[in-house]
Amino acid sequence: MKIETICVQGGYRPKSGDPRTLPLVQSTTYYYQTPEELAHLFDVPKDGHIYSRISNPTTSAYEEKIAMLEGGVGAMATGSGMSAIMAAVMNVASKGDNILSMSSIYGGTFNLFKVTLPRLGIETKFFTDDMSDAEIEKLIDGNTKAVFVETIANPAMIVCDFDRYAAICRKHGVLLIVDNTLATPCLVRPFEHGANVVVHSSTKYLDGHASCVGGIIVDGGNFAFDGNPRYKDFYTPDASYHDVVYVKEGGAAAYILKARMQYMRDMGLTPSPFNAWLTNIGTETLHLRMERTSGNALALAETLKKHKNAEWVMYPGLKDDKYHDIAVKYYKGGFGGMLVFGVKGGRKQAENFIKNLSLVKQVTHIADVRSCVLHPASTTHRQLSDADLVKAGITANMVRLSLGIENIDDITADVVKALDNI
Ligand SMILES: *Cc1c(COP(=O)(O)O)cnc(C)c1O
Repeated sequence: MKIETICVQGGYRPKSGDPRTLPLVQSTTYYYQTPEELAHLFDVPKDGHIYSRISNPTTSAYEEKIAMLEGGVGAMATGSGMSAIMAAVMNVASKGDNILSMSSIYGGTFNLFKVTLPRLGIETKFFTDDMSDAEIEKLIDGNTKAVFVETIANPAMIVCDFDRYAAICRKHGVLLIVDNTLATPCLVRPFEHGANVVVHSSTKYLDGHASCVGGIIVDGGNFAFDGNPRYKDFYTPDASYHDVVYVKEGGAAAYILKARMQYMRDMGLTPSPFNAWLTNIGTETLHLRMERTSGNALALAETLKKHKNAEWVMYPGLKDDKYHDIAVKYYKGGFGGMLVFGVKGGRKQAENFIKNLSLVKQVTHIADVRSCVLHPASTTHRQLSDADLVKAGITANMVRLSLGIENIDDITADVVKALDNI
């Protein structure tokens, strides 16, 4: 099946007489007649459902669809994007270990890596896009368990050069984890470019309707854990789970089996089946929404480029954008729905621009069907001084726009009027 077909039909295969659409199974538990049947599931949980903290039929169908969309071997949905990222890292790193991460990443992830994981004994070494390969490789040591990047950094708009980081990871036998939230598999498929694990905040485009917070981890099934001294937990018995050996029990899907048995079972990162069900409905139109939102963003970026009150515009779809050549290498069918631009004048004028908008609403969100706007300097990054803002790739006059799927003429009229009157 092609991507568009997977969006609509992937993951759910009704048998004769079954509901045509994915049913919502709002049940915590599952009935089995004989102790032997249930005992078998405790041995081999992937053969069926025991308890909804660990798995649920509605959630499983949605997970299978996302795994298909990304071209992976399995997926695990979680209650939020943050819990997906936490589990994706903790599935390979524990006390005494470290990871490498691009420094310009989503603010919540930055805080998790910089403050919270170190409290659990997991250190993060941050690197920037402009460091040389040798400088980045020098950060890798015997306890490095993963390299973390985002397909496109929000709001710095840095597009990841996957080939480069995949080569570094392969050379050192380290797992490459990619946050693909802002591109989605409709535009970029990181496993085709050497990534091993993909994470999403499904709160964004996968849901797309601003109704459910959620996350998901996808296993690329393309990493050789067996025998790699960094990942002994994958090929030695797990005492917490009757001495299962994940590479034997899970095969190519060892990573996601381990994540489910250790983090879903023991830490309960479970999404509500209702949220999985709603998010799955969202994914049915993902391909159409990504096409429209990308078209709208490119059109608005071109309009802003010509506007006298827009000092600069960053959007990877613009031919003269710093990251256009890299984006062309990896993106198919559009460059996503988010752009940033600088309002001429400064902080005050950026605030005026937001006050002048009416159709485009100010919210702390992106990737909704409704166009939305945010001024990072006075909201998500308000603790930073103007000098520190620049270091974080943000300026006081920067405005972030996430394009919805409305008619572009209405969006443009609202934005141009607001910008005319700053
Ligand atoms: C929103 C977001 C997250 C966090 O996800 P939540 O669902 O809000 O927990 C992580 N990464 C990126 C790129 C995001 O945009």
